Amino acid sequence: MFDLENVVCIEGLGYDSNSYFFDDILVDTGTGINQDFLYRKLKENDIEPGDISLIVNTHCHFDHVGGNYLFPNAKVAIHKDDANTLRDDYNYGTAVDMFSQSIKRHDVDIELKENDKIGNFKVIHTPGHTPGGICLWDGETLISGDTVFANGGIGRMDIGGNYEDMKKSIDKLKSLDIKYLLPGHGSWTDKGREHIALSASNL
Ligand SMILES: [Zn+2]
Ligand SMILES: [Zn+2]
Repeated sequence: MFDLENVVCIEGLGYDSNSYFFDDILVDTGTGINQDFLYRKLKENDIEPGDISLIVNTHCHFDHVGGNYLFPNAKVAIHKDDANTLRDDYNYGTAVDMFSQSIKRHDVDIELKENDKIGNFKVIHTPGHTPGGICLWDGETLISGDTVFANGGIGRMDIGGNYEDMKKSIDKLKSLDIKYLLPGHGSWTDKGREHIALSASNL
């Protein structure tokens, strides 16, 4: 995979989501199980974990929020429709039971909504995988969480998701001229538009 100029991309280890970093902001923190790996990858890119000021969770699933506790200096932002699921000590909607783990940090500081700004990115609400799933879009790059993946992948809809919502969300993404697609799992691509068209045709 290739490097981007404005975003540091870290491919998740095992079940961990991918993590993306820009402007002292970390998007998704993985499961939290692979602390050494994530810290090392950040440090390789001259990022001190303690300097991260904001975590943005693309949605409330354990494999994206489980590592929030690794960054105690950072505030946590998540879409308002996923916020209470993360706040709950145990909630089926986090999918934590699938991993036989527990979530160690539940606090939410900022509830996001459509068009909120995160650095140069804006929030696009894309429910379908979870009610409060978001993508981040800067006019060229889309950080897509588990809404869509490269090579026509689509997030599963059986843990808090919904097919009709997913259809609308992918339609929304299809209208964007996406170059870089940075998904929640697997490889990223510089042919985002084509990959999303493939996801739409697979739905
Ligand atoms: Zn995931
Ligand atoms: Zn997910």
